[in-house]
Amino acid sequence: MSNCAIVGINWGDEGKGRMVDLLTENFDVVVRYQGGGNAGHTVINEYGKFALHLLPSGIFREGVVNILGNGVALDPQNLWLEMQEVIRQGIALTPDNLKISDRASLLLPWHRALDELEEMRLADKKYGSTKQGIAPFYADKYQKKTVLAGELFYPQKLKSHLAELMEWKNLTLAGVYGAEPYTVEQLNEWIEAYCENVKPYICDTGKVLKDAQHGGKSILFEAQLGALRDLDYGIHPYTTSSNTTAAYAPIGSGLPSAKIDAVIGVVKAYSTCVGEGPFVCEMFGEEAEMLRKAGAEYGAKTGRPRRVGPLDIVATRYGTEVQGTTEIALTKLDVLSGMEKIPVCTHYLVNGEEMDEFPFPAALADAKPVIRDFDGWQCDISGVRNWEELPAEARAYVSFIEEAIGCRISYVSVGPERDSIIIRK
Ligand code: GDP
Repeated sequence: MSNCAIVGINWGDEGKGRMVDLLTENFDVVVRYQGGGNAGHTVINEYGKFALHLLPSGIFREGVVNILGNGVALDPQNLWLEMQEVIRQGIALTPDNLKISDRASLLLPWHRALDELEEMRLADKKYGSTKQGIAPFYADKYQKKTVLAGELFYPQKLKSHLAELMEWKNLTLAGVYGAEPYTVEQLNEWIEAYCENVKPYICDTGKVLKDAQHGGKSILFEAQLGALRDLDYGIHPYTTSSNTTAAYAPIGSGLPSAKIDAVIGVVKAYSTCVGEGPFVCEMFGEEAEMLRKAGAEYGAKTGRPRRVGPLDIVATRYGTEVQGTTEIALTKLDVLSGMEKIPVCTHYLVNGEEMDEFPFPAALADAKPVIRDFDGWQCDISGVRNWEELPAEARAYVSFIEEAIGCRISYVSVGPERDSIIIRK
């Protein structure tokens, strides 16, 4: 396969990590191009179960080069802790298989503090942040008030740059939130404890990618979260603070001239959404609890119960368009086994009118789901590997989705393990 992006179509947690882990077999390079440690990609393979937050999901494949691109929120503290955990589980991480862009901006110690302070200030109007500092980080990045990872190679300049930023940031911390200001000693400790450890992995990854491209290598671009959380195209303001769309992959990866040949959009067979914001087809009560339990829908980063609902065709079609998807991977179909009827949200009702188009964010709160029930299947499908062996009801469900969103479903995932997949090529 040539260059490919694997992206989320919905609110995140669609199972992208699982798809990247499966498909890395065909790629030489895997690059994360946006977001930070605020989400979790769960991967289950022969080495065990992993919840990756910042590391690319290609780290399990020998010979694959994994890159954290300039577009990510590079948190040295969380990255180092995550690296140690993965190494403890038996995975070798070396500067050969893991490379960090020297142009990635660093998530600084006060970003996490500011995230927490602002959510506290918002109280019942909070955004539902994972409090990993992502929003304050990106705000500062675009104000040019962070440091680049490569500055670690210029220690004296780094220290004076950080001191300037700290002086500026302490005005907000103390003045706006009444919080403790940061000190130079704290920053020095942070550099020693975390930055120095990730430093050997930092290099000019733009060059690595350019060389890979010229050498005819195939590159996989791995996204975090989903289209509906995209800063520009999502459910503002309940989005993340970066662009989760495939279109951002060339910029955020470090290969702005990249041409992406295939975009695999990952869709879950039902809907889930972590955190706040409009979620038109949300289910409540016992019905919701049963689906949540069946799908183990609890956040990989926070453990928060995910909000659940039927598959939302309106949102999924929108996500498919926004991502420029060339094919779809439908995950967690096995979770729906045993349901007598499977509800699907086919349209929205807004002010009494049926709508196919995903509404403007401010209008979402008034949208109501129009539900159609599909017949369920009463057998376990987790062992099925061929399309023809799926129960007719499951095939009808998948075929309906494919037609409704206008994109070929090439992969149907029926379990979290690497080989629990039906490939329809
Ligand atoms: P990501 O952030 O998009 O990678 O998704 P998450 O890792 O947050 O959530 C997906 C969850 O679903 C993980 O726990 C996966 O192990 C699990 N998963 C992925 N595909 C399947 C599947 O087809 N069936 C089942 N039962 N679980 C799956």
